[in-house]
Amino acid sequence: MNKPEVLIVGAGIAGPALAYWLSRNGYRPTVVEHARQLRSGGSAIVVKGPAIPVADRMGVLPQLHGLATRTRSLSLLDPDGRRILRLPLASDKAPTVEVTRADLSEVLHRSARTDAEFLFDDTVTALDQDADGVDVTFRRSAPRRFDLVVGADGMHSTVRRLVFGPERQFAGDLGLYGATVPLDPGAVEDPSEMTMLTAPNRMLVLHPSRTTPLAIFTFRAARSAPHDRKNVALHKQTVADAYADVRWRAPEFVAAFVDHPAPYFDPLTTVRVPSWSRGRVVLLGDAAAATALLGDGSSMAMAGAYALAEELAAHPGDHARAFAAYESRLRREVGPRQRRVGPLSRLLVPRTRSGLAVRNAVGRTVGRTKRTASREAAR
Ligand SMILES: Cc1cc2nc3c(=O)[nH]c(=O)nc-3n(C[C@H](O)[C@H](O)[C@H](O)COP(=O)(O)OP(=O)(O)OC[C@H]3O[C@@H](n4cnc5c(N)ncnc54)[C@H](O)[C@@H]3O)c2cc1C
Repeated sequence: MNKPEVLIVGAGIAGPALAYWLSRNGYRPTVVEHARQLRSGGSAIVVKGPAIPVADRMGVLPQLHGLATRTRSLSLLDPDGRRILRLPLASDKAPTVEVTRADLSEVLHRSARTDAEFLFDDTVTALDQDADGVDVTFRRSAPRRFDLVVGADGMHSTVRRLVFGPERQFAGDLGLYGATVPLDPGAVEDPSEMTMLTAPNRMLVLHPSRTTPLAIFTFRAARSAPHDRKNVALHKQTVADAYADVRWRAPEFVAAFVDHPAPYFDPLTTVRVPSWSRGRVVLLGDAAAATALLGDGSSMAMAGAYALAEELAAHPGDHARAFAAYESRLRREVGPRQRRVGPLSRLLVPRTRSGLAVRNAVGRTVGRTKRTASREAAR
């Protein structure tokens, strides 16, 4: 019997993870990625919760632990750069592992590439489905017909736009921006410590990462959003304006951002799509349900990939039931996280100095609770 052919659009986190599981479950996956190679930008992310058993079953947990960052503590600074508290982060015993987004994407791609076809530097331009399949037009490759198509092409998904409607129908603007830039290795003194300065409407993080430290900017812009994602000069100006009066190492980090040819910059949005499938096309990862700010996107993408492949295997020849079962499983994970994003954004990036004081009081309480818990665990 011919194996069903599945086109996966996007080789970030969800795409390679799904390709791995589909090829194990009797499907022939093809992954198309518009970048020329795996994209390397982005912060460190924590693989956690439902992604841990997925990584374990893929046999990649030891590799991820080998690539883990050494971050053990978080120092909070006041707007003048003075340390106000230090919190312990996850211990070695916690079932989580922090790696860079690029390392995670690379590990998943390495696991998937022997059994899946990867087409880089290409994308889909049209999807035309009927009862038996989907005719796909590519920008560069010859047109092909697939049994199913999966949109794993992130927050600004083209599959979603082509099949479900324009992005503005689904994206909720949090009024915040996220931007990152790699720094010289000498930028951090202590590779186990992450440092975070918060001023009203702005947060600035120095993350030691694994080999290349990162500056992470999270802020509300004074002027309205530069939604032109390709206008790098505008992104640089927006970051420079937002941090112009921030002290500590902000001038140094802004200069690195401005000098970098392609720093990461994106408005922080939540994506809510009423139904994740239309006929033979289904959405996965950030394309279906982004949870900006929580840092859960990669773990949700891995859990979603596993659930989708498992449901397709459990409902052979019945993609409609498989998609419905996958969606109801994943919504149970994603829904509560999306509801937390709004309140969390106000707590993490307060608008005022009094909001900042409340946030720091919460931080102190969390710090005390964590220290007590680790002392008790050590007894
Ligand atoms: C370069 C980069 C940096 C990021 N940095 C951060 C960060 O610092 N903080 C944070 O919270 N989140 C960041 N994210 C988002 C985070 O990676 C996702 O929340 C999470 O990994 C969910 O995974 P995903 O596979 O659904 O989407 P993503 O990891 O975004 O992967 C989507 C993939 O699809 C590709 N793609 C997009 N459009 C098309 C198209 N039309 N055709 C073919 N391929 C396409 C993209 O190039 C990308 O490789 C970043 C994403 C990227 C791509």
